[in-house]
Amino acid sequence: MRDVLVIGGGASGILAALTAAESPENRVLLLERQQRIGRKLLATGNGRCNLTNTGAAPEHYHGEEPDFVRPALEAFPPAAALDWFHKLGLLTAEEYGGRVYPLSNSANSVLDVLRFALDRAGVEQRCACPVRAVRREKRGFAVETDGACLRADKLILACGGAAGAKLGGVLDGYQLAKSLGHKRTGLYPALVQLVTEPEYPRALKGVRAEAELTLLRRTLVLARSKGELQFTDKGVSGPVSFDVSRAAATGGEGLTLRINFLPCGVREAEALLAERQAAFPELPASEVFTGMLHNRLGRMLVKYSGVDAARPLRELDRQALARLAEAASAFTLPVKGTEGFDNAQVTAGGLRTADFDPHTLESRLVPGLFACGELLDVDGDCGGYNLQWAWASGRLAGRLGA
Ligand SMILES: Cc1cc2nc3c(=O)[nH]c(=O)nc-3n(C[C@H](O)[C@H](O)[C@H](O)COP(=O)(O)OP(=O)(O)OC[C@H]3O[C@@H](n4cnc5c(N)ncnc54)[C@H](O)[C@@H]3O)c2cc1C
Repeated sequence: MRDVLVIGGGASGILAALTAAESPENRVLLLERQQRIGRKLLATGNGRCNLTNTGAAPEHYHGEEPDFVRPALEAFPPAAALDWFHKLGLLTAEEYGGRVYPLSNSANSVLDVLRFALDRAGVEQRCACPVRAVRREKRGFAVETDGACLRADKLILACGGAAGAKLGGVLDGYQLAKSLGHKRTGLYPALVQLVTEPEYPRALKGVRAEAELTLLRRTLVLARSKGELQFTDKGVSGPVSFDVSRAAATGGEGLTLRINFLPCGVREAEALLAERQAAFPELPASEVFTGMLHNRLGRMLVKYSGVDAARPLRELDRQALARLAEAASAFTLPVKGTEGFDNAQVTAGGLRTADFDPHTLESRLVPGLFACGELLDVDGDCGGYNLQWAWASGRLAGRLGA
């Protein structure tokens, strides 16, 4: 028998343990520091668990070596992951943008089928069992928990990243890997709210809008995305802000966010406002966006433009209309940074992928050591890509190089 020890009972660790248990020569032990396995999984997708994305491909992933994900994703693409989950008894439904959720709309269903599968496969699980240290031995590894020293022939690190601290995001995995000679990149919160100058967002707290966001460092465009945005008391949130958050976290100083609330550019916006002026000459400027944008947003844009809100539209000259058009199509907020790991969905950065073989996820430095999931320097876009990486990399690591 070969003793396989998996550290971390999250998405990737569960898949690694189940895969290793498929081989009769492996005796698999799954160690989890929290009271139960899969705690973060239950919080994913606002409790609905966006478990994969049918479009998952390397271009949706980031890190020092974005192509590192290719062999794992090719070996266990979204279709294979869905097939695998269907065989475990999970029914799923695909929504817009290729996002897949359990048909029950409950993350519990995903964790339940995984727990049943672990029991059927005979994987021993120890919860409330934080691993404190790992050491290389002459043969295999020694793994220290509170009160026990366990032996393993093969060791799989699946400790996740620092994101979602309240759900168990910790630095343990990086430290355990470091003690075995592995290095990591810088770590940044990603898929997280943006923190901007608060004056305008605070006044609009809770307002949602469809918008195009462009993140700039001075005049250089770092990231751009279109979709739903929500104002918060510190800045902006919502899927579209998550999309540019990685670039905001890693982009350095002097960042600004340009927001276009209209489905057109500034010239067309000017023409649109001129039409409104002709159609509703007596309307006060404060109402110029009424019917186009959320009322509170519209009035705030007028204030931002500096145009006198009480003046009737007929009294506005071309310059005033241009300022209003610019406010709605190129509204600019200085970016102070992002929220921290507590609120982030994923960690950008992690264990250096150059030190792992992408075809097996075995360490190039320590034979018999494997790593998977968010712990590695891989982070995906918003929309099911991170769990797809967790499943695919867990599956590959669990093969133990076979
Ligand atoms: C609020 C939120 C919502 C999200 N929603 C989505 C979504 O809808 N779709 C999507 O694709 N992704 C989503 N993500 C991201 C996704 O959940 C993670 O990328 C994924 O769970 C990573 O899997 P993992 O196995 O690498 O890590 P984790 O799931 O974090 O699991 C790691 C496990 O290791 C354990 N551990 C750590 N250190 C030790 C130790 N020393 N000893 C023993 N155990 C240890 C931890 O307690 C944890 O249970 C979301 C994340 C958050 C925070």
